[in-house]
Amino acid sequence: MKKKLFKIIGPLCMMILLSACVNKKEAVDNNENAEKKIFVVSSFNAMTEFAMAIGGDKIEITTIVPSGVEAHDFEPKAKDMKNMSKADLFVYNGLEMEHWAEDILKSIDNKNLVVVEASKGADLIKTSKQEGHEHGHFDPHVWLSLKEAKVEANNIKEALVKIDYSNKSYYEENYKRFEKELDDLKDEYESKIKPLQNKTFVTGHAAFAYLCREFDLHQYSVEDVFAEGEPTPQKIKELVSIGKEVNLKTVFTEENVSPKVSETLAREIGAKTETINTLESEGNYIETMRENLQKIYESLN
Ligand SMILES: [Zn+2]
Repeated sequence: MKKKLFKIIGPLCMMILLSACVNKKEAVDNNENAEKKIFVVSSFNAMTEFAMAIGGDKIEITTIVPSGVEAHDFEPKAKDMKNMSKADLFVYNGLEMEHWAEDILKSIDNKNLVVVEASKGADLIKTSKQEGHEHGHFDPHVWLSLKEAKVEANNIKEALVKIDYSNKSYYEENYKRFEKELDDLKDEYESKIKPLQNKTFVTGHAAFAYLCREFDLHQYSVEDVFAEGEPTPQKIKELVSIGKEVNLKTVFTEENVSPKVSETLAREIGAKTETINTLESEGNYIETMRENLQKIYESLN
């Protein structure tokens, strides 16, 4: 009997021992993989969102503009330089969204760094003469178009494939999935917004030109495209009269751009305020774009 029991338990023990060995080996492998993750530094939230959508668990990412901080005026800190000097990939939007990017890239010593200017190849919108004089000649808010977001995500995908060719199909599948989410969202709101009569909305800074082009909308804003230009009394008067003319029901406020002015404006017009998120310093991309579109849609009804 004892012998028989041993015959059963013996191999069982061996199996447990063996599987423990295997588990240990797997754990070591996982550890090695974890260490091999591609280290990505991204300039601000929307770039991080795109990089994460494509890079998934193959990347480790850090974002330069902290959550909740105004992105246009931001200056990188010493720790950002340090991160960039050991990163595999740097993702930025370009078009003067990151006025500091070129200087940093010149000053760091990292020969292996792959740099992606995500807006490359996008269908750009020109800025006004005055804005263009002080900043870039193009509106940087490319990521706020669902169509141009694909261009940015695709540029990031190409860079990841270049760095990590063995996972090419992983990045491509992620891109395809993300592309479909963007297309679906665009289709859904195109058919909702198209029949509306009123297509004008007012927001904190002129971030939505690309979204407006996509959905045939029109934006007015308290601050300009680079979130500058404290509104003059004249400008506010103008916005109040536009708001009354189009029977505006909602004035959008952005957390980091003149929220008080937007609130005053809403009071003057007799409209309510609603938050809108430019994805410059926080928010999941698809979720936030859906919320933004839904809020704009409701405000126009
Ligand atoms: Zn902006």
